[in-house]
Amino acid sequence: MSDTTASTAEGKKADRKAKVDAIHATVLQLAEAVADPNHGDETFNNYLRFVSQFHQYSYNNVCSVLAHRPTASRIAGFRAWLKVGRYVKKGEKGIPILVPFHRESRTVVDEATGEETEEPGRVYYGVGYVFDVSQTEGEPLPNFKADLGEDGKSLLAAAVRAAQGLGFSVTFEPIFGDVNGYSNALTGAITLNSERSAGILCQTIIHECAHSILHRRALGEKQDPQAHALIEGEAEAVSVVVMHWSGHDTASNGAAYCRNHACSAGVIRGSLARISTCAGQIIVAMDAELQAAGVLVADDMDRVESDGGQVEATTVAVG
Ligand SMILES: [Zn+2]
Repeated sequence: MSDTTASTAEGKKADRKAKVDAIHATVLQLAEAVADPNHGDETFNNYLRFVSQFHQYSYNNVCSVLAHRPTASRIAGFRAWLKVGRYVKKGEKGIPILVPFHRESRTVVDEATGEETEEPGRVYYGVGYVFDVSQTEGEPLPNFKADLGEDGKSLLAAAVRAAQGLGFSVTFEPIFGDVNGYSNALTGAITLNSERSAGILCQTIIHECAHSILHRRALGEKQDPQAHALIEGEAEAVSVVVMHWSGHDTASNGAAYCRNHACSAGVIRGSLARISTCAGQIIVAMDAELQAAGVLVADDMDRVESDGGQVEATTVAVG
């Protein structure tokens, strides 16, 4: 009898280790994707192509844009929008900004004396017009989260209940701009952009949940700017791991997200234990919700036991 108990306990231990190893393997795969500059990274390339079409705007122009269109999120000139496959809608009024015109230096000859003087180059300002993304139509903006199709709906429902079970409130509302969602660093409250598809929101809520678990701050406590890449890399890695568990490979999008936030593969590897523990916690919560709803997300899903509490993050040496 006691033998059976021992072997069951040992079997459970081995089972749990295998599951933790699987989580670690996913994290390391993501780190590899971030590190590999030749990794076919369509999302990131699209993003670079997209941002390269936009100029940096001066402080004065940012003020002008905010005064004319307080909800503006992405602005560009008429032609710049065309280059990324979007066009300005009929009847939309441009937002005025100051545009510099450069005049080269030139030699001026005095007609009376024949004396030549060098007139330095000058910058003149004229008025140009830009348009906010909401004034345009066409190709969708690049998004770092993959669309999961119909699968996203049941996963999102489970993720929302899981987040609530972990103690975080979840609100859906339209958010202007290209933000999928955000979380409150003090309370952990999660807000999701109701304009996005369920699949995108599923990855977003897991990302925000990771922030709420790992990166809460006390009132008045400032975030170290250096920590930004670390924080975003950890949250995105948790999202990739949980999505992988649910049968969706979002590593490429996750790698693009990490690169965009200047997060290196080393950061992800260094945070392996934190990422694994947090992902395990969310997986346990989501698994319970999916089982309660009678949803199986993948045939041979490597389930993490919901009776085991948190997945222990074993310390592993990584290079
Ligand atoms: Zn984030």
